[in-house]
Amino acid sequence: MLTLNLDWNENAFVVKANLLHENVHDGSHSFSDKRKAVRSAVTIYNDLPEYDLLGVTDCVEFIKDENGTEIPGLKGKYKVVLVEYKPKAPKDGNFHETDAIQVFAQKLCADHVWGCNSEAYLFYSDIKKRVKLPFDIEYDKYDDLIKKYITEMRTITERGVIPKRKRGQKCSGCSIKDMCFPKDGGYNVKDIVMSMKGADIV
Ligand code: SF4
Repeated sequence: MLTLNLDWNENAFVVKANLLHENVHDGSHSFSDKRKAVRSAVTIYNDLPEYDLLGVTDCVEFIKDENGTEIPGLKGKYKVVLVEYKPKAPKDGNFHETDAIQVFAQKLCADHVWGCNSEAYLFYSDIKKRVKLPFDIEYDKYDDLIKKYITEMRTITERGVIPKRKRGQKCSGCSIKDMCFPKDGGYNVKDIVMSMKGADIV
């Protein structure tokens, strides 16, 4: 059994994203009508050795489609649509590649569980827009990427050594940047004054 010790921290961006996901997962988004069934917080997995993934979806839409797939618990056949909620869209109005990789992992699980070829979208709440992810035309690219990342993560966890990090643009808003890049010899005026002989601070 693999045991991980994780460092974690939160900032305003993380809290905002948590609130968004709590809202999506609270059950109020699950409903059925004549055309579709919508379910939130569905646990899905893919236990093929090359993936070995488990996750919880934000939202799955089962849309009636005579060319679709039979879904246990629902009558008829359905197209499966995955929707992952994110608080902030990139400036170019497209999608963050890191968000797409996360949803591709969901697609691998959904397709495995329901024997379908699911569609996948990101919903950016700041612009209230769905962005379709190009997994139909770039499946192999994302499949190669996720296999590469899974292999790298397994190697890292087996070695038990934290890899070197490279500071990038995303680090400025990251909640754990002070853990990733601790400030050596940080300036603190109180420490400096206290270290001066005879200093007294009120
Ligand atoms: S490398 Fe940057 S973005 Fe990644 S965890 Fe560290 S601080 Fe955050």
